[in-house]
Amino acid sequence: MVQDVIDKVRAGERIDSAEALELYRDAPTPVLGQLADAIRQRKHPGGVVTYIIDRNVNYTNVCVAKCNFCAFYREVGSPDGYVLGFDELFRKIDETIAVGGVQLLLQGGHNPDLPLSWYEDLFRAVKQRYPEFKLHALSPPEVVHLSRLSQLPVPAVIDRLIAAGLDSIPGGGAEILVDRVRKLLHCYGKATSDEWLDVMRHAHRRGLRTTATMMYGTLETDVERIEHMMRLRDVQDDTGGFTAFITWSFQPDHTELGASQHITEATGVDYLRTLALSRIVLDNFDNLQASWVTQGGKVGQLSLAYGANDMGSVMIEENVVRAAGASYCMDELEIVRNIEDAGFVAKRRNMHYELLGDPIYRERDVPRMLELATAREAGDTHMPDELVNYPARSRAGKQLRVVPQNPVN
Ligand code: SF4
Repeated sequence: MVQDVIDKVRAGERIDSAEALELYRDAPTPVLGQLADAIRQRKHPGGVVTYIIDRNVNYTNVCVAKCNFCAFYREVGSPDGYVLGFDELFRKIDETIAVGGVQLLLQGGHNPDLPLSWYEDLFRAVKQRYPEFKLHALSPPEVVHLSRLSQLPVPAVIDRLIAAGLDSIPGGGAEILVDRVRKLLHCYGKATSDEWLDVMRHAHRRGLRTTATMMYGTLETDVERIEHMMRLRDVQDDTGGFTAFITWSFQPDHTELGASQHITEATGVDYLRTLALSRIVLDNFDNLQASWVTQGGKVGQLSLAYGANDMGSVMIEENVVRAAGASYCMDELEIVRNIEDAGFVAKRRNMHYELLGDPIYRERDVPRMLELATAREAGDTHMPDELVNYPARSRAGKQLRVVPQNPVN
């Protein structure tokens, strides 16, 4: 009986997979919301809702993984492929600091022509110029890709990245942590479920905090969504290293999967039910983000009544979900307006969810930056100068990096 499960959650007890499924399928949506909201209030008394000012930068769109749900990647050798130069990244950090930002969320494709040393040099250069600025970088599949490329074990790659300046790891690339689904999403060469979870275990053991995500609404079943949550809960029981969980729905526009399977985007109610269930199942996670980037500000506000206690990041730049059609954009003023209008107190935070203060625009003048930046202007694919210093793997990359020789007299 679903009422027994509801009573169990109200009593603060942990539920198992079968009970979670019963709740997910049969509990009325307002009841799911009440259960999740009560947990949020217990974990976050005082009605504080946090957000972070950071910048989501995609350093390259070249990717050999070719996931069929992705509208962002370009193949090796594609005329639209890009890699950002160190100088461009510094300029983006300067702009981020100007609006009160504290970190980069740095993720990109599995580019075979960027060796581990490129990342190490980049991280060191960033830390040298901006010692206080944080690098929340490289999702688990990127770490696994670097491990394969460099033929080093994952813990060694993580150690080298930490030594170069990595501060924390974003939980991207999880999609659904069930290999049946990952195969259907054509995640060839991308981290398997176990590999994704192992990167997080290693990172937590090395003292890094990370986030966890779930992209639902592709080809998974509701049972598999719950299996995903359970696998994350198990790791969190072991390590306690996840700071937050973020879920969003697949954005089907311009994707191979959306076109071939005629998938339409999951509804707002599906999102709110999934969010509420994750708050109930993930009882060892402190923070849940509202994904207003995919759901919009209005559903983002509703998320705060369905278990979320965080509004994620101020949007300065976004490339990945935008490539798939999502185009919601909020600067700090808009985020704060949405939080306060929903009856909460808005506070800035860092990646560790430590409070940094009140909205920064109330403390000093900051540029609003309502015009959303992208990694590169369309058609601008010039190669950064420093790339010739790094060995390329692909034939196309090797050709591009030939340094012209001085003619022999
Ligand atoms: S989702 Fe990531 S790994 Fe998959 S194709 Fe896109 S950029 Fe590559």
